[in-house]
Amino acid sequence: MFEYNPKSEKAEEFINHQEILDTLEYAEKNKDNLNLIDEILSKAEKRKGLTHREASVLLACENKEKIGQMYDLARQIKKDFYGNRIVMFAPLYLSNYCVNGCVYCPYHMKNKHIARKKLTQEEVKNEVVALQDMGHKRLAIEAGEDPVNNPIEYILECIKTIYSVKHKNGNIRRVNVNIAATTVENYRKLKDAGIGTYILFQETYHKESYEKLHPTGPKHNYNYHTEAMDRAMQGGIDDVGLGVLFGLELYKYEFAGLLMHAEHLEAVYGVGPHTISVPRIKRADDIDPSAFDNGIDDDTFAKICALIRIAVPYTGMIISTRESQQVREKVIGLGVSQISGASRTSVGGYTQEERPHDTEQFDVSDNRTLDEVVRWLMEGGYIPSFCTACYREGRTGDRFMSLCKAGQIQNCCHPNALMTLKEYLIDYASEETRKIGEKLIEDELKNIPKEKVRDICEENLEKIEQGKRDFRF
Ligand code: SAM
Repeated sequence: MFEYNPKSEKAEEFINHQEILDTLEYAEKNKDNLNLIDEILSKAEKRKGLTHREASVLLACENKEKIGQMYDLARQIKKDFYGNRIVMFAPLYLSNYCVNGCVYCPYHMKNKHIARKKLTQEEVKNEVVALQDMGHKRLAIEAGEDPVNNPIEYILECIKTIYSVKHKNGNIRRVNVNIAATTVENYRKLKDAGIGTYILFQETYHKESYEKLHPTGPKHNYNYHTEAMDRAMQGGIDDVGLGVLFGLELYKYEFAGLLMHAEHLEAVYGVGPHTISVPRIKRADDIDPSAFDNGIDDDTFAKICALIRIAVPYTGMIISTRESQQVREKVIGLGVSQISGASRTSVGGYTQEERPHDTEQFDVSDNRTLDEVVRWLMEGGYIPSFCTACYREGRTGDRFMSLCKAGQIQNCCHPNALMTLKEYLIDYASEETRKIGEKLIEDELKNIPKEKVRDICEENLEKIEQGKRDFRF
């Protein structure tokens, strides 16, 4: 029997099954306790976050008025910490060779009819050129787990290639990495290769289900997978990204587990997760999402996003093109800070005219071009940001968090967003998008609080107009 201990480095102690069950029971018992709910909401208003128990009570609450208050607070916190900026990125699939047996993923080893493909360095280059030509500056690289086909050396080589491609005015300035759990030594190699965030989805925090959903391969080991972020931190990566694949297990269980994971990182390393992703299971070759009976509807999904925003105000939240334009519209207001645009989830997909399906990991719901996504964001009052400054300036881990906590984001991220948007508008945008963007930049310049920063930003915008690139605070 394991005891709950957020400071422990043992998976079953910091993600403790009994503590989650007790939390769910406590939440269920108190879901109509309006006094307690008000108390939790007042605590949340201080913007210092909530514990997994407190947040779970809010998740269990079905009172419409209180849910409305949660949404309002999430919107306010989003505005205070992230302003109206939305960071843009794209996934880049390197290889779909995989030795695991994940039952929800079409890359699972037994799937014999999916085409297997691994990019050569030449192909990586071509994909990157295609991504740069759209305007992307930030990538998340993805690969199946296969020590023979995709060893760490292959991943490192790809990262090197990606950073080396300079095509026209383009370059990829931040590579985030979403590869299987690995060793401290390999995490150190990734850190040395200059990666941004290391992302690993837990899939499910429920150990018994986890083992059934990952029946074979190295990923079957729940403890090794769950302790991956600890090893990443020990390897020097202090920006890590958590996530749950919603639909596999009961969402209330996952929500408590996710927050416990964040509390654990904070307790042991003094820094919570840099990001949290909220993927939902999707149709794919060989995969029918209705086979997983814990799917959540759009309203529950929105509530989860709002409560993550309230519970961990300093953590970025990521949503991918697994979600439709309509769902994205809803959750962006509630706290999402980063979205992908024009994604292809197939290996080698960006260099092909039509979106290919043969090597695809999952079906994409938002099929718009990056230009369309950028325009749509701006029309909705958001600033699409291609900023990658933080880790390049050494603002990772707790240094990024202290920037957030000191309220300096508006003097830093805001001008960075405007300058990188300006680059996008000049180099890649359609006429119409550019017009909307130029007006937005003009209006938003006024929202930089410090006069000196505003002046420098204006000067840099001028220089970008004249052909210079890559300014940052
Ligand atoms: N192979 C790596 C690992 O084991 O973590 C990570 C890369 S995998 C390409 C990225 C993520 O896609 C997985 O962690 C999983 O959550 C998600 N995924 C897999 N199948 C999916 C599906 N059918 N629908 C939506 N997301 C899926």
